[in-house]
Amino acid sequence: MIKTTDLTKVFRTEEVETTALNQVSFEINEGEFVAIMGPSGCGKSTLLNILGLLDNPTDGQYFFLGTEVSGYSEKQRANLRKKNIGFVFQNFNLIDELSVYENIELPLIYLGYSSSERKKRVEEVLEQMQIMHRKNHFPLQLSGGQQQRVAVCRAVVAKPHIILADEPTGNLDSTHGDEVMNLLEDLNKNGTTIIMVTHSQRDASYAQRIVRLFDGQIVTEDKTTEFVMTSMADKK
Ligand code: ADP
Ligand code: MG
Repeated sequence: MIKTTDLTKVFRTEEVETTALNQVSFEINEGEFVAIMGPSGCGKSTLLNILGLLDNPTDGQYFFLGTEVSGYSEKQRANLRKKNIGFVFQNFNLIDELSVYENIELPLIYLGYSSSERKKRVEEVLEQMQIMHRKNHFPLQLSGGQQQRVAVCRAVVAKPHIILADEPTGNLDSTHGDEVMNLLEDLNKNGTTIIMVTHSQRDASYAQRIVRLFDGQIVTEDKTTEFVMTSMADKK
C-alpha cells in the first residue's frame, strides 16, 4: 500500500546541506504495524513527514496507495492526506480553546460531514476510547494520557486507512504510554495500518516489524518476534 524507491531528502540552507534521507527503499503492506527506530537526527521524522504527505522528497519515488505522489503539490497532498491519514504526535497538538468533543470533530468538519454524522462518529470514538465522560472538558483539564487519548480519537474519527505516529508516548509515563499503545494495537487489529516512529523498545514491541534507520539510511529490518528472541539470546 506504501512503497518508496530511493527516497532522498536534502535540506539546503545558505551555509549547510543536510541529507536527511539517503535512498530509502521499502514497502509497507495494508494492515501492517511498523515501527521506525534509530538515533536522534537519523531522519525518522523526515521520513514520517514524507510518508504522511506533509512534505515532498528531493529525489526518488513514493507510491501512496498505488499512485506515485512525489511530485504532488501541497493541495493535492492535503486532499489525499485528509481522506486517508490520521496523525498522532508526541506533543498531542490539541487546540486548547476547543473542548474534547470539538477537537475530535475537527477532521470531520474539514471533510464536510453533516453535523448529525459528525455527532454520531465523535460519540462512537469517545465511547470506544472510554473518554465519553470528558467530552465537554478542555485539553488543559486532562492528564497527559487523557490528552493523548483524545489525540488518538481525533486521528481515527474519520476512519483513515493509515495512522502515522511520531513518538506517541514520548510525553507520557509508562502506564499512560501503554494505554495509548494498546489503543493503537486495537486499531491495528481492526485493520488500520500503523507506522510509528519511536525511541522506545517497549513501544516497538507492539509492532510486527522494526525498520532501523541510521544516518538517513535503512540499516536493518526485522520482525519483532525475531528481534525479541535475538535480544533475549544476547542477555544469556
Ligand atoms: P529524527 O526525527 O530521527 O531525530 P529528523 O528527521 O528530524 O531526525 O532530522 C534528520 C536530519 O535532518 C537532522 O540532521 C536535522 O537537523 C535535519 N533537518 C530536519 N528537518 C530540517 C529542516 N526543516 N531544515 C533543515 N534541516 C532539517
Ligand atoms: Mg524526530
